Amino acid sequence: MPVSASFALSLFRRGVAIAFAASQNLLRSEGLRVAYETLYRKYRPRKFADVVGQRHVVRALQNALASRRIAHAYLFCGQRGTGKTTMARLLAMALNCEQGIVSEPCGTCTACQSIIKGAAMDVIEIDAASHTGVEAVREVIVERVSFLPAAFRYKVYIIDEVHMLSTAAFNALLKTLEEPPPQVVFVLATTDPHKVPATIRSRCLRFDFHPLSACDIVGRLTFVLEQEGWQGRYEPAALVLISRAARGALRDALTMLEQAMNFADDGLTVDLVRSLLGVTDDEFLARLVDGLRKGDIPALWRLVAEAVETGRDLHQIAHDLAAYLRDLLNFKVGVPAEETEERLALLKEQANLFDETELIRLVRAAWELERDLRTASDPQLVLEVGLLNMAMLLKTPEVTVAPVVKPTTLTTPIGVTREVTTKEPEPQPLTVTEPAEGQSSIDHIRQHWNIFLEHLKRISMVAYSFLLNAEPTDLQDNQLVLTFQHAFSYECANDRSYRDTIEQCLREVFNRPDLRIKPILSSQVSMPKVGTPVEAAGTPKSGTTPEEVDTEEFLASLFDTP
Ligand SMILES: [Zn+2]
Repeated sequence: MPVSASFALSLFRRGVAIAFAASQNLLRSEGLRVAYETLYRKYRPRKFADVVGQRHVVRALQNALASRRIAHAYLFCGQRGTGKTTMARLLAMALNCEQGIVSEPCGTCTACQSIIKGAAMDVIEIDAASHTGVEAVREVIVERVSFLPAAFRYKVYIIDEVHMLSTAAFNALLKTLEEPPPQVVFVLATTDPHKVPATIRSRCLRFDFHPLSACDIVGRLTFVLEQEGWQGRYEPAALVLISRAARGALRDALTMLEQAMNFADDGLTVDLVRSLLGVTDDEFLARLVDGLRKGDIPALWRLVAEAVETGRDLHQIAHDLAAYLRDLLNFKVGVPAEETEERLALLKEQANLFDETELIRLVRAAWELERDLRTASDPQLVLEVGLLNMAMLLKTPEVTVAPVVKPTTLTTPIGVTREVTTKEPEPQPLTVTEPAEGQSSIDHIRQHWNIFLEHLKRISMVAYSFLLNAEPTDLQDNQLVLTFQHAFSYECANDRSYRDTIEQCLREVFNRPDLRIKPILSSQVSMPKVGTPVEAAGTPKSGTTPEEVDTEEFLASLFDTP
């Protein structure tokens, strides 16, 4: 788990502990006023209109309420902290408000108030994580479900983390869902919908809760700070930092905010939040990026050593480097971000050092590095090699550019032998035996594919990494069809320089000086173009440039990621 996430989790747990302690005090002091209430509880929405994000869910529920189309069971799916339980309570309020079944509960009547306080007899919240036994479900649901609501119009069962129920408990629940008593509504909430049996899922109206955007979270944090009288005592960029660390979970963001407020004597600053969250400072990240740009390996490794000496978390550095590179990419492609002027200037300066493709590659590599570091037994080594790899990623195109081949390859008609690149000085290649008699060439290549990969690895680690999810699927004349699973690797393999490297290596290993590659995407294979002549299947079609679409897809995935 990334440090910021685990930190957020520990903060969150503390938040829960505080909330728990507060509720205990409330019980003990029997009505004595307890001054402390966590921000998350205090600012929990009491109306659909106050819900942050999730407009699609709110709209659908309100429409259903307005037209009285009430389902017996709802399934709320989404990561933690996105408001599933809050929405469930709002639904319970809308069904039971003293003003009638309403699309917006009043929030002030006795019924609404008792639901807000969690004191309503007819709104039963069950945490499946702590009630996994079949007995609990039987007792809480099956045996009591047939009784009419005690005071309300509807009895509402909210089962949180429903995927944690045991099989027997699911079966008990399923029985109830199959013959739902009237005046009973189930809201099942889960972070893992695929762990909920299909039989249950199929009986529920499903809503997917999205991670909240940084923008939504910053907006809510700002609102809370203003309500709390913090006007002029916080730096907006500090809220951006918190929203990023929260990764789409408003509950975590509010808990972090609360923690920061407790420490913020002289105001809520970027520096304070950064030190609380353990986020790597921009200055360090900028030096890393400079080192990458210059390909200055000694400088990069000195930075790693410095980080180790000063006790920084290396995994966190990789995480923050990925985020920083993503910010550079955002800046480059003109996605506006809420940043201080100072930071914008830094981003501008560094974004100018790269083109978009380079930044995409770097972001991707940084993500992979972060993933590798999660399980690394020697994080320093992994970070060093990862940075080296990223620096090479930038260098490779210049180093291996072979000016001999003109980019007319794509229009070369089938059967016409092309001019071959002149031989370059090479490390002695691993070679393979000639194909056995009767063995097809493609089988021969497949059989020795690993030898080729080994050789490629020695020449270009980066090109090698792209080919790891590719398969040689066909050989037509001298054109080897490589089928890629991922658009990103496919795109990189199509890159002139990597392509040259791969072809060069193939020719040597298989001793076929005319061998060329034709990268294709596996998704393209299954959808052949209608009307494409059969004999043209192996011909590279000019004008077919699926790269553009893939880049867009990849970019979209970048910005969708919380
Ligand atoms: Zn009400």
